Amino acid sequence: MTFKTLDDADLSGKRALVRVDFNVPMADGAVSDDTRLRAAKPTIDKLKAGGAKIVLLAHFDRPKGKRVDAMSLKPIAEALSKVLGAPVAFADDCVGPSAKAAVDALSNGEVLLLENVRFHPGEEANDPEFAKALAANGDLYVNDAFSAAHRAHASTEGLARVLPAYAGEQMRLELNALDAALGNPQRPVLGIVGGSKVSTKLDLLRNLVTKLDKLAIGGGMANTFLYAQGHDVGASYCEKDLADTARDIIRLAGQNNCKLFLPLDIVVAEKIAPGAPAHVRMAGSIDDDERILDAGPETVERLCRAMGNSKTLIWNGPLGVFEVPPFDKGTMDAARHAAALAKDGKLVAVAGGGDTVAALNAAGVTGDFTFVSTAGGAFLEWMEGKELPGVAALSR
Ligand code: ADP
Ligand code: MG
Repeated sequence: MTFKTLDDADLSGKRALVRVDFNVPMADGAVSDDTRLRAAKPTIDKLKAGGAKIVLLAHFDRPKGKRVDAMSLKPIAEALSKVLGAPVAFADDCVGPSAKAAVDALSNGEVLLLENVRFHPGEEANDPEFAKALAANGDLYVNDAFSAAHRAHASTEGLARVLPAYAGEQMRLELNALDAALGNPQRPVLGIVGGSKVSTKLDLLRNLVTKLDKLAIGGGMANTFLYAQGHDVGASYCEKDLADTARDIIRLAGQNNCKLFLPLDIVVAEKIAPGAPAHVRMAGSIDDDERILDAGPETVERLCRAMGNSKTLIWNGPLGVFEVPPFDKGTMDAARHAAALAKDGKLVAVAGGGDTVAALNAAGVTGDFTFVSTAGGAFLEWMEGKELPGVAALSR
């Protein structure tokens, strides 16, 4: 994967149109989590240092091609200004006269946020005319929104066709980390896929078994695999209609020399409730009214050993119902072990997925992982082996 970065750009006095992901959680009209704003800072700082005029493009929510006042980016300009410790100007449209006037008013190193690009239908339609209208306010295009790169929209893909295109700092970090995990990993490479459903992760499993040396399956989806192998799963969540599919994946893993780890032992309980009485059983040994809610200690220990024998780990999906203790134990123990190995430089540990990130945060180990992607859908599509239009446009 080759793409240009800001180190390759001549920035001085240039108007840089920067696509960022500011689709942040809001409560009562204020930003309640500024992680994504902070993630944009390295790119903004670099452009500032290079003397560029920084024009930020972003979407918020789903206004479906028309102006929706409740989905304005205006409150985000104020929050960003706090993060940057510098003023952030705002224009109430991303194209047309108000955008142009605001861009013309910028001095080198100053920052402007343009209104929600999704207020225009041309954004999601990737209309070339709309991309041109956006491009009228820039000399170069910087994409720093990996999390929006699975969408071919005007501000994520179209702009790269009309302006010289560069990966921003966050995009560069993310692409390099993903390449180190799955594109060009140090081997052996181990995957962990957990979560609730096989059905949402079929493409992902099919792709991973062709790329990984070892794959551990956990979470609710492991129940479907256990069932497919003839084990009793009691009252567990299980997609019985996907038993054939699970057997196909097991076969595909064999054909590709990917060693599969299914649970050896399991943690079962009659209900999902904090502190519910739980028992450790061998896989397949379960009562009719019991559910599998976590990986057992032997399973986790074997997984930790596999981490120790691997150079790279790629992880999506918790091993159990981590939101409800004690069913968080498998996920927490595995997360802490991976983090310790990564911190010691023994393992490249990369993880992503909404609930996975929440679980790693709960374990307090996010900072020790080599990289934790907050990109959600784009991360999963990348794990599925799909080409991301926003990334492909940069490497053209
Ligand atoms: P991510 O968001 O990281 O991609 P998923 O959304 O696929 O992860 O899965 C997370 C969910 O899977 C969590 O809500 C967790 O409670 C659930 N889960 C994990 N193990 C089980 C299980 N054994 N039974 C039911 N749900 C489970
Ligand atoms: Mg999820």
